[in-house]
Amino acid sequence: MSNHKHNLYIYNSLSGQKEKFEPIHTGHVGMYVCGPTLYSEPHMGNMRTFINFDMIYRYLLLHYKVKYVRNITDAGHITNSAGEEVDSIGKAARSEQLQSLEIVYKYNVKFQELQHIYNLLPPSIEPTATAHIQEQIEIIEKIIENGFAYIVNGSVYFDVKKYSESFEYGTLSGRKIDELSEETRALTAQEEKHFFADFALWKKGNTDDMQIWRSPWGDGNPGWHIECTAMSTKYLGKHFDIHGGGMDLKFPHHEDEIAQNCGSLGCNPAKYWMHANMLNVNGQKMSKSLGNFFLPKEIVEGTTELFDKPYSPNVIRFFMMQAHYRSNLDFTQDALNAAEKGFSRLTDALHLVEKLKTSAQSSFNIQELVASFYTAMDDDFNAPILIANIFEAVKRINLVNDGNETITKEDLELLSAEMKKFLFDVLALQIGTVNNDSKLLPVMDLVLELRQEAREKKDWSTSDKIRDGLAAAGIVVKDGKEGTSWS
Ligand code: AMP
Ligand code: ZN
Repeated sequence: MSNHKHNLYIYNSLSGQKEKFEPIHTGHVGMYVCGPTLYSEPHMGNMRTFINFDMIYRYLLLHYKVKYVRNITDAGHITNSAGEEVDSIGKAARSEQLQSLEIVYKYNVKFQELQHIYNLLPPSIEPTATAHIQEQIEIIEKIIENGFAYIVNGSVYFDVKKYSESFEYGTLSGRKIDELSEETRALTAQEEKHFFADFALWKKGNTDDMQIWRSPWGDGNPGWHIECTAMSTKYLGKHFDIHGGGMDLKFPHHEDEIAQNCGSLGCNPAKYWMHANMLNVNGQKMSKSLGNFFLPKEIVEGTTELFDKPYSPNVIRFFMMQAHYRSNLDFTQDALNAAEKGFSRLTDALHLVEKLKTSAQSSFNIQELVASFYTAMDDDFNAPILIANIFEAVKRINLVNDGNETITKEDLELLSAEMKKFLFDVLALQIGTVNNDSKLLPVMDLVLELRQEAREKKDWSTSDKIRDGLAAAGIVVKDGKEGTSWS
């Protein structure tokens, strides 16, 4: 066992500083992360955020009992970047000529499949907005009762000005609501709300009759932010440890969640607010509306025009982990190729560890090396530094193998166990045969043999079917000069 003393610091978006992590209940962590809106297949940018929080969840699991709640948005109106409320699920339903829940279930199947491909742990609870309409109504009622919301023509709006008399609005994003501020804009004739910063808690009616619910204010559907207030507090209590999501959710989504929580339950829901940074394409945020996105499966199957070959989900995950979760990340072919090389060096080193010769004494300090893995992650989940420190271990392993360093049996066992813990359990990389189910190897031999036979017979449809089927399972097959390999 390593004798590491756990001393985690988390960057809290609320204070703009790294703070010592002290859970509200010793030994337990409650974490809520905003999940996807399933009106389309999640793109690679969405996946980056979920992968980052998966890494955070996994590191927390080494130290705490964690309840991780990540919702699925399957109802309601979403506010777009122009501040307009858009019924995105209903819109997708109309354009695909499906019912709204068909849309959500269709893309949820894809989302669950992606989590499997990218080796994400399932959250403890994955609640949906449609299953929590009653809870949302009750919170809205509480906000109205407290005087922070008003009803107009069957819709309910949060009253930001009224709220600002009792609480400070804008504590997370730093946006101050001042009637004279530059951001203040006049309302259009169609807008029912009283003030530009007010937001919908409940919207009257809906063109989609599968997305309509009865409420004290008439038939309608919930606003976007209220579902997260309802579900986070239902499962984690009115004050819990961590609330996370992508940076783009800071405003208005998280700011408005804080307002709803204070306006109904009297306090900010989370002690630590965490925001993961964006995946960019040529310096621009990957987004559905900009059209500059690719799908997480396309890159594994090699069907995106951006890259001339497929990459295994392990390499992609490894690549992502080499950027800190609070940094921007640009996907480029060169960077992916470099990650592929690094990943194969790691794989080689792990194979080497199994057969390394041990000595009576170690010529370097293994405890210190192992401690550096924890220190990196304790510093606001610094996965890139963790990887750099693991590469330091790889260097030592190679030196021992070359006879230039020595290691005792006990130290080697410690180093090997800790490297595997961080690579497999925290970074969630599935490295070669070391971590794979041994039953998979003969099955893969058989499958590749069948594919080879098909290729020899020029039966391309069978050989492509096998390759694509394996890609869907997260296994990339490569045909090279030295034969076919997979990872
Ligand atoms: P949405 O389905 O749009 O609600 O987004 C789901 C999650 O993905 C949210 O946490 C967003 O902040 C996050 N997200 C959206 N676009 C990107 C991006 N380009 N890079 C990283 N995360 C993103
Ligand atoms: Zn949310």
